[in-house]
Amino acid sequence: MVGTMIKIPAGSHGMVYVRVSTAHQAEDELPVDSQIAELKAAVAAAGATCEVVTDAGISGTDFEHRPGLQEIVARAREPKPNFKWVLVWKLSRFGRDIEEGLIYRAVLRKKDIELISYKEPIPEGPLGQLITHVLMAVDQFYAAATAADVLRSQKELARQGFSAGGRPPVGYRREPVQVGTRYDGTPLTRIRWVPDPEAAPRVVQAFQMAAEGVGYDQIVAATHICQNKSSLATILANPIYRGVKVFNRETRVEGEHGRKRRRNGADDVVTSEVDPIVPEPLWNRVQELLTRRREHRLAPQRYAGGYVLTDILRCACGARMAGTNSRSYRYYRCVARCGRPHVRADLLDTGVMDLIRRTLITPKAIREMIDAINEHGRLVAANQAPELQRVQRQIASLEKQEANLRRALRTARPNAAERIALEIDQVAAEIREAVVKRDDLEQVRKPLSTSKRFVQQTMDEMTGLIDDAALDTRVAWVRDLMDRVTVDGREEHAVAIWRTASDDGVNRSDSVSSWLRR
Ligand SMILES: [Zn+2]
Repeated sequence: MVGTMIKIPAGSHGMVYVRVSTAHQAEDELPVDSQIAELKAAVAAAGATCEVVTDAGISGTDFEHRPGLQEIVARAREPKPNFKWVLVWKLSRFGRDIEEGLIYRAVLRKKDIELISYKEPIPEGPLGQLITHVLMAVDQFYAAATAADVLRSQKELARQGFSAGGRPPVGYRREPVQVGTRYDGTPLTRIRWVPDPEAAPRVVQAFQMAAEGVGYDQIVAATHICQNKSSLATILANPIYRGVKVFNRETRVEGEHGRKRRRNGADDVVTSEVDPIVPEPLWNRVQELLTRRREHRLAPQRYAGGYVLTDILRCACGARMAGTNSRSYRYYRCVARCGRPHVRADLLDTGVMDLIRRTLITPKAIREMIDAINEHGRLVAANQAPELQRVQRQIASLEKQEANLRRALRTARPNAAERIALEIDQVAAEIREAVVKRDDLEQVRKPLSTSKRFVQQTMDEMTGLIDDAALDTRVAWVRDLMDRVTVDGREEHAVAIWRTASDDGVNRSDSVSSWLRR
């Protein structure tokens, strides 16, 4: 098995960051206090000091309110940050998904601040870097599975016109409503969102001010319905205020230039009615103004031209190199204009990606990676064992309930029979949901094979991953793996210097020459 990499230098200072992802995950994992205690003990054992930053009790997809993580990133961006590492329980706690995690890691790396995962054993070197990415992707997959679970039941509740959980938007409050009685006599309640008599008038005032063209800062100051301008924009666009509660309207997807929102198909969208707060004409007037505002905004152009290597390229003269679109081919050119010829960007990019592929995607490396992922899977399974047992017990108990209800149905009078039939329906639905959950949890426990065939298949897939990865991801990989690539356009020669230091402390370097000979 690969060695663990929790290497906190003695005498160093760092940050311990702890986040609870969802209530569901919080059940599976150590309580936050225990996580903090364990992490602090690891820091003390290494002879280092730390500050503890927490974002507790928020859901993984609720990414606006993570002041702790934002603070760490902000402090890392300061000219001279006073910490050398960030210790997290798991990598998935650092950023809401792989892309954000990569961006934040890049911020840290720029300042030589190391991100250390307590729970994930990662070998050193380029392989470790790649595994880190894979683990983050695996975690993201699990997070998506949990999210899908939550979504299923939320959609059902929304369909029935009840709160799909979570906090209602400003202007509404939660109110429990009894909708029936369970067979055992206990009340069956659901949460409904109803206008809040104290806050609703201030929401209307905000819409009126917006319709009159008052600036957002002024509206926020006058109504206190939110903290900032961007929250106000969200409020003003929310159709709930005209009485239509839309659930599951869009999905966030990864695109070439980062996150995009994709509208879900009509079948996936659930609408229900709530009491409106804002009169329809006023709501419509504000929407027109919002549309006009949006048209004035420009889409961000990141990594314009698709140059992967811009951040790490150095000309032989020592200057940086930048991409250019001025000719029929895309070129990297020396920004100091030292006179060395431009180099073809497509060929150099391909050469560097080839080098990464040849170095990382070997059968031995893949086997080590599979071992690491299986180790990770065992940790996840150990965390989830109590949850799996709970679900198995729940299914057994529900099946017993269902059998009892069916027995009761056979002897029931007609008016009672109808109610029992409804109860059976509900129990059957609960069983189906629990079975799906059990199957998902069991799926997680299956270890990956290290057979020749699977290793070859994984090699092929990783090759495809490198070729097809989004530009942002490829940029992050190259930046993570390589310190720099030095190019001499005159000598037609390029050398990549990896981030890993060899035993004698010299960074490994490899020639990238294939870019010339095509
Ligand atoms: Zn130059």
